[in-house]
Amino acid sequence: MPTALVIGAGIGGLAAAIGLQNAGYHVAVHERAADLKPLGAGLSLWSNAVQALRALNAAARIETEAEPIETMVLATRQGRALLGPRRVTSAEGVSAYLVTRALLQSALQAALGGDAIHLDSELVDVAQDDERATARFADGSTASADLIVIANGIWSPQATALIGNAPRHCGYGGVFALSDPVDHPQSARRVAEYWGDRERFGLCDIGGGRRYWFYIVDQRPGAAAIGHDDCLARASDGWPDGIVQTVAATTADRLIAFDCHARAAPRRLGVGRILCVGDAAHAMEPNLGQGACQAPEDAVALSVAAQRESPEHVVSAVEAMRLKRVRSFVIQSRRGRYGTHAPVMVQHWVRATLSAIPAAIHDRAIGSAHLMPDYR
Ligand SMILES: Cc1cc2nc3c(=O)[nH]c(=O)nc-3n(C[C@H](O)[C@H](O)[C@H](O)COP(=O)(O)OP(=O)(O)OC[C@H]3O[C@@H](n4cnc5c(N)ncnc54)[C@H](O)[C@@H]3O)c2cc1C
Repeated sequence: MPTALVIGAGIGGLAAAIGLQNAGYHVAVHERAADLKPLGAGLSLWSNAVQALRALNAAARIETEAEPIETMVLATRQGRALLGPRRVTSAEGVSAYLVTRALLQSALQAALGGDAIHLDSELVDVAQDDERATARFADGSTASADLIVIANGIWSPQATALIGNAPRHCGYGGVFALSDPVDHPQSARRVAEYWGDRERFGLCDIGGGRRYWFYIVDQRPGAAAIGHDDCLARASDGWPDGIVQTVAATTADRLIAFDCHARAAPRRLGVGRILCVGDAAHAMEPNLGQGACQAPEDAVALSVAAQRESPEHVVSAVEAMRLKRVRSFVIQSRRGRYGTHAPVMVQHWVRATLSAIPAAIHDRAIGSAHLMPDYR
């Protein structure tokens, strides 16, 4: 039986491990954390990710427990629509969902099975020769396998050393959170984003009247976190109805601050027997909501390659299937910043262009992003 080590038990690592198990590999996942606490707030899982989770046999809980997304809208701070409201069409009968990270993480863990995960196991470095790839851990131990998958997130020094696209600051950051039920009539099953000048709010209905929301603003690296009172004051300053009520329905301890970083579009995904997946390979700006969605797609391509190829050819096979698509998402998600985080003239041009493009063209572009390629 071929063997693989997967480094990191986030969405990317768990999905990759499931894909390899399905391909008949014996897999050990090494996670630095001492336990797998559900971290973070919500995530949009567009239909391409749900198709990928189905292909991994890991979609059932998402499709029964998560809130489907039915409409999306992009509007100005004054509430003028720039894109939509449009129905989120399901690709090949598969819906999109708004999930909590906790649900996605636990669905993936259950699909993998607990025995495969080694906690408190921090990778220090990797090496390889013609026969094997070897990982060295912080406790001094080593492990070898036919294949190593690096899935330890955007800050992975091993991925940077291997494929080179070091993370950089995006010029903005902010807070995100899950609210309690909001005391305000709201559109169910809707994802909305509102653009101001160098700041924006997003509101996503997550079911039961609760919302996953975010506030993003231009900021320097390491800027002080935005507190709840400050966020509430900003939300009260002329944004569309529903935003201030949502912030008010969120306790201060739920706010999660983030400073946005992303990797440049990768030129490769691995070398020899060592493959990078998820944010380690292609951390992107959060402007398309596709960062985590691309990880299950990586896993499907990996699974197909692992079934078809011998271990030393898996990396090049995955690269052939995935590189063009992930590069395109990284590049487009970077462009997505220009509607807000840019000089006002550029913002106006982007917004005018978005409004002028016929709905059919938007639908075609979004439809192809939300359709997982056939990797078989
Ligand atoms: C504000 C914001 C909003 C977002 N919204 C969306 C969205 O709506 N939809 C979407 O699809 N994506 C979204 N994303 C992107 C998404 O969060 C990421 O793409 C995704 O979580 C990356 O998963 P990952 O498993 O690759 O990395 P991570 O989640 O970072 O997991 C890496 C794992 O590796 C472990 N690790 C780190 N170093 C080591 C080591 N040396 N040894 C062993 N283990 C290690 C870590 O502890 C962690 O468990 C958003 C991102 C941001 C910042």
